[in-house]
Amino acid sequence: MNKYAVIITGAVMLLAGCDKPSPPSADNQAWMAEGKTMGTFYRVMLASPPADALVGLKEQISQVLEQDNHELSTYRQDSVLSRFNHYNGTAPQPISAAMADLIATALRIGAKTGGAMDITVGPLVNLWGFGPDKQPVLMPTQAQIDSARARVGLHHLRLTEEVSGQWLQKDLPDLYVDLSTLGEGYATDHLAALMERRGITRYLVSVGGAVISRGLSPQDKPWRVAIQKPTDREVDAQAVVDLQGHGISTSGSYRNYYELQGKRLSHIIDPATGRPIDHKLVSATVIATTAMEADGWDTGLMVLGTEKAKALAEQQGLAVYLITKTETGFETWMSPQFRPFIIQATDTQPEKR
Ligand code: FAD
Repeated sequence: MNKYAVIITGAVMLLAGCDKPSPPSADNQAWMAEGKTMGTFYRVMLASPPADALVGLKEQISQVLEQDNHELSTYRQDSVLSRFNHYNGTAPQPISAAMADLIATALRIGAKTGGAMDITVGPLVNLWGFGPDKQPVLMPTQAQIDSARARVGLHHLRLTEEVSGQWLQKDLPDLYVDLSTLGEGYATDHLAALMERRGITRYLVSVGGAVISRGLSPQDKPWRVAIQKPTDREVDAQAVVDLQGHGISTSGSYRNYYELQGKRLSHIIDPATGRPIDHKLVSATVIATTAMEADGWDTGLMVLGTEKAKALAEQQGLAVYLITKTETGFETWMSPQFRPFIIQATDTQPEKR
């Protein structure tokens, strides 16, 4: 058996330390729930949970994920977000406090990335076939791209908080908000909050490529989360981190793509060009206090490309790990804030600029 049990969730892998499988005992119990959600997979792993905390836990996990899906999905016509997108007017629409927090985070990160991360990019995501719409059979024309771009821009979206509640408003009736880039992190944070409410202090939860862990694994070691090498071999780890209660998320151009007329098209869209990114940065990983925060930054950094992403990470003091394609392979870089989380790394060149 390998040194670790490798479990893939998006572009990060969960490495549940298992050098020696431990027999279950009162102090060393492992519990796991997993399944499909939001077009991807979720996983909850617990170590030594209090017995009463497990009563009804699976049902509560499903409820949390269902609630988030009902709010954020653009794949469901009746979600809160789809109703906002399909509403053909400009009057403020009510949203929950949690959804307002998500959108405030998206607007803040969007502004700091100079619009590279833009949750109104939906018309372009759909045009290129990465949303609920089918993939195009022909390369979108410049006229189609320009037409979709005319409906994109964070300045068209307004969030207001009043005594009466939180309101979301658009000044273009056909603005289309796509929260896919933060949705997995949002749901991961909610699963972590559920564990905390249940008095569970040793957990690792993930939705897609967003992960949070707290406490120690069933082997009384740090939970190990691996950043995947940008290859088709899913079990290769580029680096392994101990999250120490933080959230992590990776955005990559090497897993979610398709080929059209001989060109490889990534699901990350540059709002400035209206086209899938086409540069050498292949993976951006961010560790932050919440998974949602990490999930917002990673996409923005991917859009910016290696040099601008490094500069922004340094300016903002972000914990960032980048993998860039070179003529001979891959080059990695980490910000000083990322280094304390690393417990194993291959081929890292942190000082190289
Ligand atoms: P990330 O890098 O985190 O985000 C990339 C995604 O963000 C792109 O796929 C695109 O949608 C969007 N994006 C692209 N460029 C930008 C940009 N410049 N700025 C901002 N956003 C950008 N998929 C299904 O196939 N079926 C489903 O039923 C389904 N339901 C979902 C429900 C919810 C609530 C959510 C949040 C997602 C759902 N998805 C579904 C989408 C799917 O799981 C996505 O692939 C995933 O959310 C994207 O995450 P990622 O980690 O792959 O990429």
